This record gives sequence, structure tokens and C-alpha cells, in this order.
Amino acid sequence: MVDLKGQYNKIKDVVDPSIMEVLESNAYINGPKVHQFQKNLEDYLGVKHVIPCANGTDALQIAMMGLGLKPGDEVITADFTFAATVEVIALLNLTPVLVDVDLVDFNIDVDAIKKAITPKTKAIVPVHLFGQCANMEAIMAIAEEHDLFVIEDNAQAIGASYTYSDGKKAKSGTIGHVASTSFFPSKNLGCYGDGGAIFTNDDDLAHTIRGIVNHGMYVRYHHDVVGVNSRLDSIQAAVLDAKLPNLDAYNKARQEAARKYNNAFENHPQITTPSGTCGDNSICDKCDCHVYHQYTLKLTNVDRDALAQHLNEKQIPCGVYYPIPLHRQKAYLDERYNEADFKVTNQLVQEVISLPMHTELDDEQIEFITSTILNFINSKS
Ligand SMILES: *Cc1c(COP(=O)(O)O)cnc(C)c1O
Repeated sequence: MVDLKGQYNKIKDVVDPSIMEVLESNAYINGPKVHQFQKNLEDYLGVKHVIPCANGTDALQIAMMGLGLKPGDEVITADFTFAATVEVIALLNLTPVLVDVDLVDFNIDVDAIKKAITPKTKAIVPVHLFGQCANMEAIMAIAEEHDLFVIEDNAQAIGASYTYSDGKKAKSGTIGHVASTSFFPSKNLGCYGDGGAIFTNDDDLAHTIRGIVNHGMYVRYHHDVVGVNSRLDSIQAAVLDAKLPNLDAYNKARQEAARKYNNAFENHPQITTPSGTCGDNSICDKCDCHVYHQYTLKLTNVDRDALAQHLNEKQIPCGVYYPIPLHRQKAYLDERYNEADFKVTNQLVQEVISLPMHTELDDEQIEFITSTILNFINSKS
């Protein structure tokens, strides 16, 4: 699904010396590389505070701790996402409220959010799934009306831009009260181990969070709040700082691959290709609304699992993200859920398939992948 080796070979000249600097300095924890990467990422995103931490799951948890959410508070999030999002809500003894998603962009459904709000609701966690932003303008308006926090799970969309209805733009992860991201190796900006970060424009919240990631300490050995130990180590920061200048080019390469996939599948009656949130069905050059963490097709009247098996036989990697909606996962069952409220996620888990997507895909690979898929589908109909 990804080609980390091919990418590394191209940037070895920059990454290796950056790692060597850390080895020579012996500053493995909280070294200058971490600070340097933090500053560079703040500049790139146009956000006041980036707080690095150990991984994207911690980032979500720490963001929620920083907002002071209390056991029993309800947190609304998408039913169709990776489990990390709902896991940390449950771990903090908050009450997850899963809601349906949109059939076109797979992101949290705004009307479903409105329906799920109760007097106990304290926060909304939109996940910018597969590389494009949820409908942040509408979500922020709902949050303001009901006095709720918005925590953006930006693990899959770093570098994407969101365009407001008046044409104004913002980077994903800088719109809500706070955002989390992951630097897991296969993410759009990945390190060579685990890493994550929290973003916010709120000075007080940033201060609170800086203490939480460091055992609740604001002054050495004074523990004012219950914290955690969650650090981005200096070697990972060195990798990330070397890769950050390439992020836009990496996202462009993903968009280019997506464009070629889209062209190959254009107008096929059984294949729905992904479309940008800006409403442009071709891939949008102007707004970077989609950075294609995953390239995900929706199939109609196709035996998706048989296709996946066929691709495996041809040694073409593919993935089903996600095969089971969160509301049907044993750990997150809740008798208040009603199947009728999850029409879209129940459909998507049967119809989606994600194709190889990374920065190193070439025309020959794309041609092999798309012709194998088209031959399979056309031979069955
Ligand atoms: C990857 C991911 C996470 C978790 O990140 P880790 O660094 O693996 O902990 C959380 N949310 C989403 C949507 C993700 O894709």
C-alpha cells in the first residue's frame, strides 16, 4: 500500500545527517531537533502552538484531557473511522456518541451531529478521513451555538486545505479549538517510528497541554494536574524536520496518482471515485482539499471481497478501511444505538476498497492496478 523504502532512498542525503546530528549531540529526549521541528511545523500550518507527543492516539487523549472534559460528558464522533478516535473517549470515561457519515466524502454527517446533541454533549471530534476535511464551517457553527469544543482528528489530512464558503482558506487541523495528528510511518508526514502532535491557537490550552504531556509538571517536580508521559523523541523529530519541506510535494504526488486512477475509472457505472470536498469531481488543483491519505473507491454491484482476493492473487495490495463500523464493535456497543441511524456506514463497510497510494507510484503500476480492476469488474457484468 505504501513504498517507504523508495521514498527514503530519495531523501537519504537529508535524513541521515539529520539523524546523525542527534546521535552526536546525545540529546535524545527534548533535544533541539524537537524544538526546531515544532517551530517549523507551526510556520507551515500557520498555527500558534504545536505540541509534539508520542503518537496520534496520545495526541487525541491529551487534547481531551487539556479541555478538561469530565466522566459522563458526551463526545460526538464519526462511526466510520479508525478505532483510536473512540478508544480515547472511552478510556477517559467520557461517553462516545457515534454518528453516521456522508456518502460522498465519508466524513461525519452534519445533520447527524445536530440530532445527537443532548445537554450532556461537550465536544465534537470530526475525523478528516482519507485526507479531506470534514465540513468544518458547519461544525464550528454548531459548536458555537451549543457551546461545544471541536477536536479535529487530523491524522490522515496533514497539509490539506479547507476552503470556507467566502473563499478564505485554512490548513486542516487549525480550525477547531484543538487538533491531533499522527506521524506513523505510512501517514502523509511519517517518521520512522511513532510520533504525534497536538495543534492549537489557544495560548492557555497550549500551556495546559505542555504540562499534561510532561507528567502534569509546569515547574520541575511540581505536579499540578494528572498528566502522562508522551514525548516525540529527537531522532523522530530529526526525520520529520528533514521531511517537512517535502510535504507539499508528497501530497502533490498523491494527488497526481489519484488523478490517474480517476481518469482510468471515469464514468464506469459500478465505480464511484473519490471527490473533493470543494465539490469539484475532478481533482482540484487550486485548493488542496484532498491529500489522499487513502484512495478509496465505492463499488456498486461488485463482489468487493472477491475483487480484493483477486487483487491479492495478482500481488496488488489493497485495503478495506474500514470493514466494521465502530458502533458494531464489541468494545463500543451501546444499546442506545439504532441501526437505522447508521445507513451510510453500514453501506460503506460493504462497498469501499482502498488502492495503493503513496508518493512513489509510477504510471506502469497505476496502469497494472487499474486494468486488473477493470478487467475483473467488466468480466463479471
Ligand atoms: C493513525 C490514526 C490515529 C492514530 O495514530 P497513531 O499514531 O497510530 O496512534 C488516530 N486517528 C486516525 C484517524 C488515524 O488514521
